[in-house]
Amino acid sequence: MSKKLLIKNIRSLVTCDKEDNVFKNVNLYSEDGIIKYIGKDIFEADEVIDGKDMIVYPGLINTHHHLYQTFTRNLPKVQNMELFDWLITLYEIWKGLDSETIRYSSLVGMGELMKSGCTTCFDHHYVFPKDASEELIDVQFGAATELGIRMHASRGSMSLSKKDGGLPPDSVVQSIDKILYDSERLVKKYHDRKDFSMRQVVLAPCSPFSVTGDLMKESANLARDLGVRLHTHLAETKDEEKFTLEKFGMRPLEYMESLGWIGEDVWYAHGIHFNDDELKRLADTKTGVAHCPISNMKLSSGIARIPEMLKLDVPVGLAVDGSASNDGSNLLEELRVSYLLHRLNSSKNAPTGYDILKIATKGSARILGRNDIGELSVGKATDLFMINTNRLELVGTQYDPKSVLGTVGIKGAVDYTVVNGNVVVKDGKLVSIDEEKITREANLAVEKLINKA
Ligand SMILES: [Zn+2]
Repeated sequence: MSKKLLIKNIRSLVTCDKEDNVFKNVNLYSEDGIIKYIGKDIFEADEVIDGKDMIVYPGLINTHHHLYQTFTRNLPKVQNMELFDWLITLYEIWKGLDSETIRYSSLVGMGELMKSGCTTCFDHHYVFPKDASEELIDVQFGAATELGIRMHASRGSMSLSKKDGGLPPDSVVQSIDKILYDSERLVKKYHDRKDFSMRQVVLAPCSPFSVTGDLMKESANLARDLGVRLHTHLAETKDEEKFTLEKFGMRPLEYMESLGWIGEDVWYAHGIHFNDDELKRLADTKTGVAHCPISNMKLSSGIARIPEMLKLDVPVGLAVDGSASNDGSNLLEELRVSYLLHRLNSSKNAPTGYDILKIATKGSARILGRNDIGELSVGKATDLFMINTNRLELVGTQYDPKSVLGTVGIKGAVDYTVVNGNVVVKDGKLVSIDEEKITREANLAVEKLINKA
């Protein structure tokens, strides 16, 4: 069945296309999740949305998350810690994760993302407790389908426990064989490499201090055999830099490069502590960075050198990171904070509000390896969100719709989110699930998890 959607009389359509077009008073027509027309003509459709007061933007794309962490937010004992102590403390709770906590935390985290304009979510799940089901990523894909969001999941992993000089406890690390076997199973079962795909799989060992060099190397080999992308945390803290220098005599990027982890099929979360030569190396190899400003501020990790990266054409995307260091999943908030942080740090060299929007759309699409999302033009996916400009808090902001998300910011939920041509958020509410029921059930699951620890 061919599903037809018409959004008519759009007040401003911010396309993020090559020419940076912003169209006024146009109609957007979509069939089967693909944009077929933008212009003045009218088409018959199954669903028609009136855009007369609306700004329409390309859907935001989240490039780093740990959805399970929505269950360990705002915990008093970790609020004043930096990354390593924060991780060591939280692993004691995370080792109790199971299918139920994964399902509800995925619904909660991706639900909040969709309410803040996100249409594609990448998640980095790497905690596979010994007693939990083997199929936690399968559960995540199930949650994404329930919500109607496009999902790139990863088979994350940890193989270096405390007794071998790593950070995590024994009960959450796995053998290389087990990890690689499950990685291949997931790619074969879920990875759809076609245009407009709703599900992709990434291989994502957790970090240099929770994974052996062998696992990094083997994961890179397997990912390249299977034709999927690679992701991990890198250059997040000075502690990590000290760790790789002491253990391997190399800086983090040099260490990862020695394991085959560089190139346009690789992107790193954070990328804060790169020096000038390393930034150039990233640019030359088109290795990407997922920028997570709120997490970096919360954990006092530092400020990623985004203005320099953009100048050098290092691929950069935006991300909320896990909810234990954010402590939310709101990409619109991330966008605004990113804008302000770089204004403070770089003044005239800071990215504009529109530059940050492009990081969160086209930039993010680029590091996920996708050409079919991240902008609104004919032939691209119908992934978008809409903001009704008739809001008290937007009075006086009408002169620059493409920058307003950074400069002014949107407080509260978006009016509509559309993924693959389907309305998934309407009037600020998720369409396919009962938010109040899921909230109640999720809070009960949170209690169970916290009481286990
Ligand atoms: Zn992370």
